[in-house]
Amino acid sequence: MTYFDHNATAPLHPAARQAWLAAAEKFIANPSSPHRLGSRADAALEEARSRLATMLGCQPHEIVWTSGATEANNQVLHHFASVLPSEATVCISAIEHPSVIESAAHYFGPRVRLIPVGRDGVVDLPWLAAELEQRRPGLVAVMAANNVTGVLQPWEQIAQMCRRREVPYFCDAVQWLGRESAAGLGACDYVSGCAHKVGGPRGAGFLKCPAKREFKPLLFGGPQEEGRRAGTENVAGMLALVATLEARQGLLGEQESRRELRDRFIERLLVELPGVEIVGASQRRLWNTVAAMFPAVDCRQRWVVKLDKLGVAVSTGSACSSGKEEPSPVLLAMGRTPGEAGRVLRMSSGWETEAKDWETLLSAIKLAASELRQAVPA
Ligand code: PLP
Repeated sequence: MTYFDHNATAPLHPAARQAWLAAAEKFIANPSSPHRLGSRADAALEEARSRLATMLGCQPHEIVWTSGATEANNQVLHHFASVLPSEATVCISAIEHPSVIESAAHYFGPRVRLIPVGRDGVVDLPWLAAELEQRRPGLVAVMAANNVTGVLQPWEQIAQMCRRREVPYFCDAVQWLGRESAAGLGACDYVSGCAHKVGGPRGAGFLKCPAKREFKPLLFGGPQEEGRRAGTENVAGMLALVATLEARQGLLGEQESRRELRDRFIERLLVELPGVEIVGASQRRLWNTVAAMFPAVDCRQRWVVKLDKLGVAVSTGSACSSGKEEPSPVLLAMGRTPGEAGRVLRMSSGWETEAKDWETLLSAIKLAASELRQAVPA
């Protein structure tokens, strides 16, 4: 099977596997236990925390280990729901992951203000600037890179705008980390990330948050993580998370060659299948992501099934919403109609994806297109 669904989850990286196995065998004790074996596990966890903090550019005690980004994202909204005054609004970009959008809706209901995005998939900065000035929201949340389109968001600028207004800024960096440089992310007040999009294990993530400020935990029942997240830490998972992110940071010099492979595929796709449109094409995007809107031959589900039968795994949007027939809210927020959104396929490569894999994808798409055209005349 040729795998083009790294934005959903990625195959395990050897460095992550090695770090996980070594830690699982070596650190047998609970890091909170008072004996030497416990202290050893704790020391390993703290060392991993320092290494992650170095990558992000923040202090180690600003990092809380979590079970993944969904938990970290829920934690942020839960915290602000507990500390903000009852009339406070929160500004969330309209293209956030459901773990942000849905927890914001849960905690803040009508007090959620959705930051619009343009047709190109980038958040509307003038809108946000006006909102910061006129309403002064209690929180701003804008992700670093979108999971459906790969479009990069101006998070550094947003962090500055928020800092000037003293409004906390939360950046979901899940799709950015391990593909773009992590440097500077520590300047955002809150940052979430996870391991499994770039070769780490599933169920391992973190939240960067201000250490000295009040923190309302989501989970109770233990003093771990300085009282910010109860529960025995996943030592092996966190060591593997850091190992994979470091390995990926070391590859950043090769981004251009990976982008070239992707762009060559796009060029050929546009020639082979006239009528295909690349979503967010005018903007800077992750080097691994192609969100392509196919001509009105059939619905996206059939494309995915056809490609699957031809040995290629792609997605229709975020993995969390595939399986459902609803159009991706990200594409709707970009002004696409439900019909158009229904024709978008997301193809996301990994660092290990080679030219021949892109070839296989293109051939499979061409074959699927001709079969679909025969089945449903245009
Ligand atoms: N945020 C973004 C942008 C994502 O793409 C995802 C996963 O699809 C998540 C959060 C959730 O991450 P996790 O699978 O670690 O809970």
